[in-house]
Amino acid sequence: MNTLVADLRSDTVTKPSPDMRKALAAADVGDDVLGDDPTVIALQRRAAELLGHDAALLVPSGTMANAIAIRTHTQPGDEIIAQAESHFYYYEAAGFAAMSGCSTRMIQGRRGLFTPEEIDPLIRPPDVHFARSRLLILENTHNRGGGTIWPLEQLDAVIARARQHNLAVHIDGARLMNAAVALGVPPARLAAHADSVAMCFSKGLGAPVGSILAGSADFIARADRYRKMFGGTMRQSGLLAAAALYALDHNVARLAEDHDNAKHLARALAEIPGLSLNPDDVQTNMVFFEVDPAWGSAETLYRTLEARGVRTFDVGPQRMRAVTHLDVSRTQIDDALDVITNVMATPAEVSAR
Ligand SMILES: *Cc1c(COP(=O)(O)O)cnc(C)c1O
Repeated sequence: MNTLVADLRSDTVTKPSPDMRKALAAADVGDDVLGDDPTVIALQRRAAELLGHDAALLVPSGTMANAIAIRTHTQPGDEIIAQAESHFYYYEAAGFAAMSGCSTRMIQGRRGLFTPEEIDPLIRPPDVHFARSRLLILENTHNRGGGTIWPLEQLDAVIARARQHNLAVHIDGARLMNAAVALGVPPARLAAHADSVAMCFSKGLGAPVGSILAGSADFIARADRYRKMFGGTMRQSGLLAAAALYALDHNVARLAEDHDNAKHLARALAEIPGLSLNPDDVQTNMVFFEVDPAWGSAETLYRTLEARGVRTFDVGPQRMRAVTHLDVSRTQIDDALDVITNVMATPAEVSAR
């Protein structure tokens, strides 16, 4: 790769800022396995309140937060209902099957979202032949759906329907803060009426490591055992908690800038011949777009851009993804757009060389 123009692969590439590193270095720590790390305790309390739940647990990753939630809500042989491109199903190494022994019934939906009516036919009758329908998982924002936000009414209606069917509800809110900022509502409004919620500090919030799992006191007490079993209970993790607290203080409201930058990127990409997307579909910090097969494949575009310092991901044969975040400025995005415009103006065979 030549000099970096913009790293748009993911908001996970954000690095801790000098001030965040200072907060991390200054953290008061203890041994969280023994339960006396004051900074972890403070973070867990604050995150629980923020998400509208009794209690919360700091865990190393969003993947582990989901895995613990699934294990805590289910027994082997239970079935999970969710949208077919959910992160826990698509990108988490089938942990729901390997570590919790669950099966799944998936909803196609639209852009990661679905309606209460789409849940009904997937509920199994109480009969020894069938798996037990047990858990509904929602993703907000929905990653592969395009960074999509659940509209409040639809979110409430789907959760209410899950309750009628006696399903537990887990929200994979890796990017819940993006949804809250975009909607202008407190995060608790999006999370309090689910049984559990997972949120990442290590994505757009800019912390190096860490996710939170929140729920009732009883749920979190049971989840704590699985955190230990899965190897996620840490010692002087107050260092990580301090970075997460710093992120909550400084990096939440600014997510609106990432959303503005994503819109700007989307509108400009839509004008480039050979690329297509609807900029109105961009609701948060993720921009998905299609490459015309007459130009070449997404993989070719990915490799060509990579060689020119614009880092993205190909996520389908013709589908690309670019994500905005706190370590990419408007100027860098404009520079990236210049590179993309030039690359698309050249036939793929030539520019790939
Ligand atoms: C990134 C992500 C996760 C997993 O988080 P990691 O910290 O990378 O394990 C879970 N769900 C969604 C929707 C994500 O985007």
